[in-house]
Amino acid sequence: MMATQTSQAQTADSTTEAAREIVSRDPATGEEVGRVPVRSPEEVERAVERARAAQKSWGALSFRERGGCVLRAREIVLREMEEIAELISIETGKPIAEAVSMEITPTLDLMQYFARRAARLLKPEKLDIGLYRLLGRSSRIVYRPLGVVGIISPWNFPWAIPLGEVVLALMAGNAVVLKPSELTPLVGLKIGGVFTRAGLPEGVLEIVTGDGSTGQSLTVAGVNKIMFTGSVATGRRVAEAAARTLTPVVLELGGKDPMIVFDDADINAAAGAAVWGAFANAGQACASVERCYVHERIATDFISRVVERAKALKQNVGTREGTDIGAMSSERQLRVVEEHVGDAVARGARVLAGGRRAEGFSEGGAFYEPTVLTGVDHTMTVMREETFGPVLPLMTFATEDEAVRLANDSPFGLTASVWTRDIRRGERVASQIEAGTVMVNEVLYTHGIAQTPWGGVKQSGIGRTHGRLGLLELVAPHHIHVNRLARLHDVWWFDYTPQAATLFRGLARRFATGSALQTMLLAPQMLRRFRSRK
Ligand code: NAD
Repeated sequence: MMATQTSQAQTADSTTEAAREIVSRDPATGEEVGRVPVRSPEEVERAVERARAAQKSWGALSFRERGGCVLRAREIVLREMEEIAELISIETGKPIAEAVSMEITPTLDLMQYFARRAARLLKPEKLDIGLYRLLGRSSRIVYRPLGVVGIISPWNFPWAIPLGEVVLALMAGNAVVLKPSELTPLVGLKIGGVFTRAGLPEGVLEIVTGDGSTGQSLTVAGVNKIMFTGSVATGRRVAEAAARTLTPVVLELGGKDPMIVFDDADINAAAGAAVWGAFANAGQACASVERCYVHERIATDFISRVVERAKALKQNVGTREGTDIGAMSSERQLRVVEEHVGDAVARGARVLAGGRRAEGFSEGGAFYEPTVLTGVDHTMTVMREETFGPVLPLMTFATEDEAVRLANDSPFGLTASVWTRDIRRGERVASQIEAGTVMVNEVLYTHGIAQTPWGGVKQSGIGRTHGRLGLLELVAPHHIHVNRLARLHDVWWFDYTPQAATLFRGLARRFATGSALQTMLLAPQMLRRFRSRK
């Protein structure tokens, strides 16, 4: 399948000769899928200018009008689901079934949810300002658009990640400049095309294709916020560059997500979850199960079920029906996996399944077998760094404390999962784990729930996407404070007479307790001060 950017690009700036091109390739075959230009810093700046101009009228529309456009885009996605799933599969290597279940379905849900609910989620809020109300004051928060939001996205969920953020940003009244990954530019352009056909005004969503240099240009192009999803190393570079202009950033970074399986867990379900959590999208999810800790009493049974299931996975080209696991999205990522597995094996890990590049595919295909490792420990790269591939290393533990300690022994903290039939224990353990999301008896999937926040702690990132917390990242809280007793001079204004100084001390002792009763004791002094002022 060949595609060019011209039919879908919203931003193709025909006046510039694009000096460089990106060739998008199918990682299952190495074949070219299409070409797009690497947008220059000037082109990125112009895209931001166009977005800034378009935002004014977009931001002035009602939520209902903005939601109408998102719902029309949703209809197009629904109609073109097969074509979109195929494009995602061809650019990433993932099975078509997974493109539908893990990318398209969650975004269809997210689109309807935020199109209909953003108004309520961003409703102006009256604040309880305590005793200041007695002085005729009131405060409320109005949420205003930020302006232009820059979104820089990765290749592993090239549809769901940028599209979700685009929808939230648009519903909040912003214009967007999106820089999709250089590995999946055509999916990025497809997002732009869908919104254009849905009637989104020109300039409100600009797609700038390119590589890291284009992302770098966008970071410093004067946008009002950067929503970055990618690796820790790049996230750090983005934060450093953004710091120079004090551009706020949300960073959604890597993970090394642990799964803890207690001895009272449903072993069969937990084994199924471990295999899906580790091998879905060929393990290339930020929330993949990257470490599994199983209670020693059930370890033998659990591990043999995991191995059996891993070996039964059907690995093939993503567009073939029945494929469970496709190619990895790039040869580069496959080499990282080889390095981690090689290091583990050299230091004594046992390979119970996989452990090598899969054979029988075309020469350019980046296929790696689903791999299960035991005999690993926390000195090995495979237990410390993000592998981002189809590898499931397993360790045993004896006590709850040990499981928590092992789970927290990581620089990352994106998601974690705890398996037990005892929900109270599950929640107790969940509350001790350092991660943005901890699931009890679930793995990986909550990015797909539009209502729940997504984001990490430690090196997994800063800020949130999705849910109300994610929407709040995309607005400026505007505090409006009103004094209805405007005739009176505040007691704390000049002049600072000896009586005033005494009253201030009284306020410190009584008013600042938050107690109306205590404050009432100051009423005579306050009245005297009000009367003494002109
Ligand atoms: P990456 O960091 O290599 O690239 C991400 C994006 O940043 C790409 O669009 C890239 O072109 C751009 N970029 C590169 N250099 C840049 C620079 N100097 N300034 C601005 N932009 C730049 O990441 P990747 O390989 O595309 O994605 C894989 C990583 O993403 C993994 O670490 C994974 O865990 C993480 N990820 C995190 C989440 C999350 O929600 N936390 C979700 C998906 C992926």
